[in-house]
Amino acid sequence: MGNRTYDVAVIGGGIAGYTAALTLKNFGKDFLWVGAKPFGDKLLKAEHVRNFPSFSGNGVELAALLERQMIVEEIPFTKARIDGVYAADRGFDLMSGREVLHARSVILATGVETKVAKGAAEYLGRGVSYCAVCDGALYKNKRIACEISSKEYEDEVEYLAGIAEKVFVFCRYEGAHFHAANIELRQGKIGGIGGDVRVTEVLTESGEHLAVSGVFFLKDSAPPSVLVGGLQTEGGHVKVARDMSTHLSGLFAAGDVTGRPYQYIKAAGEGLVAAFSACDYLARSQNAPRS
Ligand SMILES: Cc1cc2nc3c(=O)[nH]c(=O)nc-3n(C[C@H](O)[C@H](O)[C@H](O)COP(=O)(O)OP(=O)(O)OC[C@H]3O[C@@H](n4cnc5c(N)ncnc54)[C@H](O)[C@@H]3O)c2cc1C
Repeated sequence: MGNRTYDVAVIGGGIAGYTAALTLKNFGKDFLWVGAKPFGDKLLKAEHVRNFPSFSGNGVELAALLERQMIVEEIPFTKARIDGVYAADRGFDLMSGREVLHARSVILATGVETKVAKGAAEYLGRGVSYCAVCDGALYKNKRIACEISSKEYEDEVEYLAGIAEKVFVFCRYEGAHFHAANIELRQGKIGGIGGDVRVTEVLTESGEHLAVSGVFFLKDSAPPSVLVGGLQTEGGHVKVARDMSTHLSGLFAAGDVTGRPYQYIKAAGEGLVAAFSACDYLARSQNAPRS
């Protein structure tokens, strides 16, 4: 991904992000399209897509068509997770693990989050975190819990185990394997989070109480207000104007992340509008006098 500054960073590998990337390619912009995987799991899961113009079939077939187009149109995709987006001098800094990327403009196309335990929103920033590298150091010699959705996050759990006294890891898949002796594996999800001012415990799905100081949800997506501090949201969705702009200058959003209906065609349409708006923004800011 390097140390250059992209015109636009598109975050999210779903159909909103893809359509934004396709549009930016057509406009000849220098963009970064980054996500967990092209088109995402939600597309692959659709049994029968009946509402996408000129297409009838299942999600796997639709993904195959999109992939063919992606190859023909030479749309580059970068597999990575973005942990945080921060306003910076004339643009944005994007954290991805220990790497920092730069873009003059950003399109958030991160979809909607799969449900996490009750209490996660309430204790966000008070013991609940979505980023091991960002917040791990806060839990030196403390007991923590992690919930992970796939094997890809096992390394991050090991990283946290190197800091914390003990890590209870809740795995939402079979066959997890860890090396550190202070990791205790639990199958399934975290059932709930409890505490006072800060997190003091997690509940297992069977109702067992485990005393912890912090809880990490390590997954492909985080709520938009966690990803971009201070971003205006409404009912968990990013608040956007008709041109897909957010209240942060140069930051746009598209797809499920902006609200219902959760549909491919709406996500694709918004991805296109967001890309147009990002290009307008770049043109305007290029012509603006330097302060
Ligand atoms: C089972 C099922 C069937 C469906 N059937 C239909 C249907 O028939 N017709 C229809 O119109 N809609 C259908 N939908 C809805 C449709 O899937 C969504 O509306 C659509 O996928 C939204 O696209 P999106 O790009 O906004 O988000 P998503 O498809 O959710 O993509 C967002 C992507 O961004 C990634 N991401 C999130 N955060 C980050 C980050 N910080 N860094 C990097 N990547 C990140 C996520 O991992 C994800 O891959 C269905 C949904 C499901 C679950």
